[in-house]
Amino acid sequence: MVEDKRLHKIPDEPVEYPDKHSNDFRGNVREWGFHFCGYDWDPKDEQLKIYLHYDQLYYWKLAEISKMARGFLDGELWGTQCPKCGDKFFPPRVNCWNLDCNLEKTGWVKLKPEGHVHTFTVAGWSGKSSLKRLPFVLAYVVIDGCKTAVANELRGIDPWDAEFGMPVKVVWAKPEDRRGTITDFWFEPADGWKPSPMNPEKERIKQLCEPVYEWVKTLK
Ligand SMILES: [Zn+2]
Repeated sequence: MVEDKRLHKIPDEPVEYPDKHSNDFRGNVREWGFHFCGYDWDPKDEQLKIYLHYDQLYYWKLAEISKMARGFLDGELWGTQCPKCGDKFFPPRVNCWNLDCNLEKTGWVKLKPEGHVHTFTVAGWSGKSSLKRLPFVLAYVVIDGCKTAVANELRGIDPWDAEFGMPVKVVWAKPEDRRGTITDFWFEPADGWKPSPMNPEKERIKQLCEPVYEWVKTLK
């Protein structure tokens, strides 16, 4: 197993609780939340196994999509392509979706780290880990001519400047912060892209964002 310095120890003190129906039945066990612990990579069969910790250690076998998740760790985007019709997919599909292809098995193809926004929304609320980044843009992006779109955060933009069809690039987290999951990358506007001038709709979104910015300032 590839060790990770962030590996945290499973609590070794016994769990004691007087009443298992009370709210503090976890006793001395701390809530650690979700942690990435490390991974095993089998180069022969190209199979990836990621160890995660959510109070208890568990693992997630990536099986058919191992190559995609391995690519995340390496800062590469791997999708799939049908050898019959040439359609590409990211997120990857194991079998082609075209009825004429009779569920043809796809092959892996390395994708260019660029695409365009298919659709998006501006988030005014989120999970605890990203509250301080509110308001942010969540976009479905079509990467490198794929026939499927993938949802991820669009950063480096004022939320009201996001546009349908705008070109974006893939930006990777630092290697030591990657976990073999979708949060290893996000999107940013493509180099040289300029937002369009303000218009009534963009002004409306900007006004909706203002109270969110004010609220975020109150967070510690
Ligand atoms: Zn096909």
